[in-house]
Amino acid sequence: MADPYPQVYLGDRLVPAAAAHVSVASSAVLYGLSVYTVFPVFVAGAERTAFRLPDHFRRMVESCRIIGIDRFAQEWDYERFRTAAMELVAANAPAEDVFVRATVHVVQSIPGTRVRGCDIQVSMFVYPATPIVPQDGMRLKSSPWRRIPDNAIPSRAKVNGAYVNSVLAKQDAIDSGYDDCVFLDGNGHVCELSAANLFLVRGGTLITPDVSCDILDGINRRSILTLAAEDGIPVQERTVDLTELYIADEVFVTGTSAGCAPVFEVDGRVIADAAGPITQSLRKRHAAALRTDQVHGWVTPL
Ligand code: PMP
Repeated sequence: MADPYPQVYLGDRLVPAAAAHVSVASSAVLYGLSVYTVFPVFVAGAERTAFRLPDHFRRMVESCRIIGIDRFAQEWDYERFRTAAMELVAANAPAEDVFVRATVHVVQSIPGTRVRGCDIQVSMFVYPATPIVPQDGMRLKSSPWRRIPDNAIPSRAKVNGAYVNSVLAKQDAIDSGYDDCVFLDGNGHVCELSAANLFLVRGGTLITPDVSCDILDGINRRSILTLAAEDGIPVQERTVDLTELYIADEVFVTGTSAGCAPVFEVDGRVIADAAGPITQSLRKRHAAALRTDQVHGWVTPL
């Protein structure tokens, strides 16, 4: 991630990036007790739009609810969130497409590991929208690190501490010469990448692990499922074996920072040497929806 733009939102105001501090004694730092999201902002001249901003806010509320960070829903509503994002982006006036990372930090310093009733601070910062995986055909490695199950640290909650799991798996993949990992659960079923959801195509059917497969309920994943259904593509959300990936006709990934990008290889098995027809058409539809969707109400002017 590149350095943030100069103005950062923290608490209830904009501050210079160098002054945007969270205490070393906060539970956010001590236990990874923060919840976050990253949403894209598209810039076209003076116009700026965010993709599915209400859904990003809702997912943060839900993540806080799972973890027990009760102050967020008490102190923040969508309108406050949208206004903060708007002020932040206006103050930084980006001339390029950017990502905004919004975080709810548990800032209270408390003895022991508790969360309910603790003070929070919200931060938001802007950085260049650089994809985190290759966009022209990536190579994936199934990870020796298992995905954290719902009854340990739920993947459904986008909580910072859980990303240690992603770091272990992504670093292992990079060290082995791959672009990213495929997380498997304890039974060997496919979950997702370190920070993206996974789709495969077999015989014209689009398949993706369902939301009970220890995945993040990705906002781009949902969008692809909607677009595919509209295009009449049969869709299955279900458990997926690793070996199904090996014999898929097409594999691609989705995510705010991953885009909608094809996979060419998994564990040394070649899937393709070019994006397949369903990947290509959904990728095109997704790219258009991000910026100009007028059908689903997915675009929010900022
Ligand atoms: N899974 C994980 C673990 C992620 O971190 C992300 C990125 N937020 C995704 C999936 C994709 O989610 P989204 O489409 O909402 O960016």
